[in-house]
Amino acid sequence: MSQSYDVIVVGVGAVGSATVYQLAKRGLRVLGIEQFSVPHNLGGSHGNSRQTKIAPYIGSEYEPIILRAYELYHELVEESGQKDIMVKTGFLDLAPHRNFPAYKLEHNRRFEDLSIQQVNERFPQFKIGEPYWGAYDPEGALLRPEVTITTHVRLAMQRGADVLGNTKVLSWKEDANGVTVVTDRGTYSAEKIVFCAGPWTGKLLEGMGIAVTASRVSFAWVWPLQNVKAYEPEAMPCWCIEDEDGIYYGFPMMTDVPGYKIGLHWNGESVDPDNFNRTPNAQDEEFIRKGLRKYFPEANGPLVALRTCLYDHTVDDVPIIDKLPGHDRVTLCGPLCGAGFKFIPAYGEIAADFCEKGTTGIKSDFLRIARLLK
Ligand SMILES: Cc1cc2nc3c(=O)[nH]c(=O)nc-3n(C[C@H](O)[C@H](O)[C@H](O)COP(=O)(O)OP(=O)(O)OC[C@H]3O[C@@H](n4cnc5c(N)ncnc54)[C@H](O)[C@@H]3O)c2cc1C
Repeated sequence: MSQSYDVIVVGVGAVGSATVYQLAKRGLRVLGIEQFSVPHNLGGSHGNSRQTKIAPYIGSEYEPIILRAYELYHELVEESGQKDIMVKTGFLDLAPHRNFPAYKLEHNRRFEDLSIQQVNERFPQFKIGEPYWGAYDPEGALLRPEVTITTHVRLAMQRGADVLGNTKVLSWKEDANGVTVVTDRGTYSAEKIVFCAGPWTGKLLEGMGIAVTASRVSFAWVWPLQNVKAYEPEAMPCWCIEDEDGIYYGFPMMTDVPGYKIGLHWNGESVDPDNFNRTPNAQDEEFIRKGLRKYFPEANGPLVALRTCLYDHTVDDVPIIDKLPGHDRVTLCGPLCGAGFKFIPAYGEIAADFCEKGTTGIKSDFLRIARLLK
């Protein structure tokens, strides 16, 4: 293993693994450094499933990114043969009003517009009435976060990348010759560095004027009280329900963990990612129970698993991918702000573009740092 590289990527979670892969694919000598094992369940990318969909992003700034992410996910499946990375399930969005402007666009043909009566006929598991309305995206899918990370890392290492797990970056510095990274297992140098540190981004870039915070959220698996088949992928899509407490979301039952997975997307409880209580508690369960009582009373059965996870936030809750101002050798990719998994192959490509060329061909100006430094 070399001590000197073209690029060091700090953080090999979701987008770090995609960035290491993209850089290795370009023939660069890459080192990915991860403080925990690869993959792990201590950051923002565990829990066996993530949702993706296209329809809500049509006409928004995210449109080119979600389309590119779908292409790259398909390429990853093709190249690796790892078919369970992306499972087509469809996606059902339920809201008391048409919350995504995309659904009002005449030319958006990527979803089916469903009255609540049509929703109830097609998906009787959902106990929901007026004033709700549904948008069904047939291209919606379930992504497997741990398998995606593992696959990106495996393919990158096959191309010559080095990835070090259980190695924490303690400090870094940039000078005219390159960057030097001090870890708890040695010192490494490179021409350039990319930060993909998710909820820890604020800690690694302390004093640089970029506010990034972390928060604690939870999710659960329960075993339905009746009609278990109604929660299997043949009958159940991935879904979101807009609620006064946030957005409930869930997945069809898969084989990774027994039961029906449901979570509540909200701001979360602000925490220090190095020092907070990861152990799930009664309040975590009550968040989930409240949604089950309201929308899935027939699934409100025994708790099979309850876990905590980290979200990360910028001030406007829009991710950052850019060069760090005043630091030509430094690219920042994150935080991804609690909804980034569906985009990570494209975000990794954009980060690799910035690192390699200082610019990207993927339209993504809204992700630049300047908006936060005004
Ligand atoms: C419960 C939950 C549900 C979600 N659901 C969805 C969904 O359905 N769809 C969707 O698109 N998105 C979803 N998201 C968001 C998405 O999963 C995250 O935005 C994304 O996975 C974060 O990836 P990341 O690489 O930025 O962070 P992480 O995967 O956390 O990676 C950051 C990595 O940096 C490492 N690191 C940090 N500091 C150091 C250091 N000093 N030295 C070495 N390594 C370091 C960390 O250990 C970590 O591995 C969800 C998130 C959560 C928590």
